[in-house]
Amino acid sequence: MKVTALYPGSFDPFHNGHLNIALRSLELFDEVVIAVYGLPKKNLLFSHEERIRLVETCLSEHMHSGRLRVVGYSGLTIEFARKIGARLMIRGLRNSMDFDYELQMSQTNHWLAADIESVFLFANAPHSFLSATLVREITQLGGDVSALVPSCVAAALAAKKIESQRRESE
Ligand code: ADP
Repeated sequence: MKVTALYPGSFDPFHNGHLNIALRSLELFDEVVIAVYGLPKKNLLFSHEERIRLVETCLSEHMHSGRLRVVGYSGLTIEFARKIGARLMIRGLRNSMDFDYELQMSQTNHWLAADIESVFLFANAPHSFLSATLVREITQLGGDVSALVPSCVAAALAAKKIESQRRESE
């Protein structure tokens, strides 16, 4: 039986920690669907469409197998998992803060939908300090994040910065 795993997140923006989890998941499961959440309770830098397009671009060389897809979604993640026939949800764990949050989320999701299982992959050491918030903040303060994100994301961040500087000077 084909095992489809959903990897949900806001990916604002997609960084090397996300990429590592996505590629390791592809080694483990028949199909991996990266699901970009539309309206997280966060101050977004990139729009929903931009985030979907960026994840697609970052993973374009891995799409040809037909085992990897990038999609947008809104609403309950478990409902979306059911809709696409995914019985597994992948989450990355960086530290004990993630653990505490993910434990509560996983138990809530189990209460809502006992048929959907959460699977956790520990962040690899080089990515364990990395978060999308950190990437956004360093960029906004003029720092260089090119070693932390795929090159297409670094280019998109640079373009956003130029756009916001132009708006400020108007
Ligand atoms: P974040 O702002 O923390 O990057 P996301 O909602 O985009 O938030 O994260 C999506 C998933 O990726 C979550 O399961 C999260 O724990 C995981 N993740 C985030 N950063 C990393 C990282 N550096 N290494 C591994 N997994 C990560």
